[in-house]
Amino acid sequence: MGGSDPEKDDGIVGPRPRAPSLPPYVPGPSMDQIIHDHGIEPHGVTRLSSNENPLGPPLAAIEAIKRDAARAHLYPDGNGTRLKKALASIWDVSPDWITLGNGSAEVIESAAAGYLGSGDEAVGFEYGFALFRKAAMASGQGFREIPMADGFQYDPDALAAGCVPPVRVVFLANPNNPTGSFLTGKELESLLDNVPPDILFVLDEAYHGYPPRDIESQPPDGIDILKRLGSRNLLVTRSFSKIYGLAGLRVGAGIAHPSVVEVLERVRSPINVNCLAQTACLAALSSPEHLERSRELTKRGRSFLIETLEKLPVRVFGDSGNFLMLDLGRSAAPVIEKMALKGVIVRGLTPYGLNDCLRVTIGTMADCARFVEALVSALG
Ligand SMILES: *Cc1c(COP(=O)(O)O)cnc(C)c1O
Repeated sequence: MGGSDPEKDDGIVGPRPRAPSLPPYVPGPSMDQIIHDHGIEPHGVTRLSSNENPLGPPLAAIEAIKRDAARAHLYPDGNGTRLKKALASIWDVSPDWITLGNGSAEVIESAAAGYLGSGDEAVGFEYGFALFRKAAMASGQGFREIPMADGFQYDPDALAAGCVPPVRVVFLANPNNPTGSFLTGKELESLLDNVPPDILFVLDEAYHGYPPRDIESQPPDGIDILKRLGSRNLLVTRSFSKIYGLAGLRVGAGIAHPSVVEVLERVRSPINVNCLAQTACLAALSSPEHLERSRELTKRGRSFLIETLEKLPVRVFGDSGNFLMLDLGRSAAPVIEKMALKGVIVRGLTPYGLNDCLRVTIGTMADCARFVEALVSALG
């Protein structure tokens, strides 16, 4: 028996993983889990914990899936050629500026895998979307956190100051999930100006398309900025999980200069977007009325929630996605649990260290009313 002791201090026996301290991502509870944990009938559950579209997928997408289901034995087009072409026409870019992902999550992971080498680090804001840290750590590299300013505001100067070696990738969600923080176009462009050209700037626009609360102050369109600046270090990500209502199919996209797209294309899983996802996404792109209804619903629900919550002892954050974050000023876990017993499921933010906060998806008007009722009752 030669060699060193296979059991190191940390108790790992066998192959040593790259990121032994990486905590698992905690998704919202599945419908089955909710039903099981709380003993509630499925129709009695209002799930407002995963920022899903309460309208469901566009009808055209459901039809497309049915039509193409019989072709599920065939590999999909690994390049997603038709989908890329359709997106290129909508975004007015060449298809070689687009990469597709199994959700925008995969594009974010590919950015980390493609650009973080040994000793490099990624940087992002404290309370930033949890996947950024996970992506950096899964690539075996570190993640630096920049504190937010008061009131969960992004501090672009502090982020720019953090863009020094060994940082090679910046992650910024605009707006952020869960805090709703965002930069305006002016703030973002001046930040981009201050990021060295050899650092990749990943701009996550998963909530693009939702109406802002205030048209005077809203997140810009990152693709417009990319096209105008022609930046070689800006990657914009978009998701079809939120306003398009296709979260279960997993489709996302990255838009960047071809030199960046080429790297992501090499790193990504070879056949990453399945055939039903591709066909449904194409159909969803031709369903503007679904987008419009989603926008309207979000606007109405958000106004109702904000007006109603103003009368409660909570602070509300979030201006431009399909969710709000509430600071209850006390431990949120017991409140969330009580609400769950009434069939209203919201997201706790303990994994972010925000123990007093919860995140609620803006659902239908009936969902919103039910949420308020359960919250009032749980706050006691
Ligand atoms: C929901 C969300 C995503 C989307 O992930 P998909 O993989 O496209 O489903 C990405 N970023 C943020 C900030 C999100 O909230």
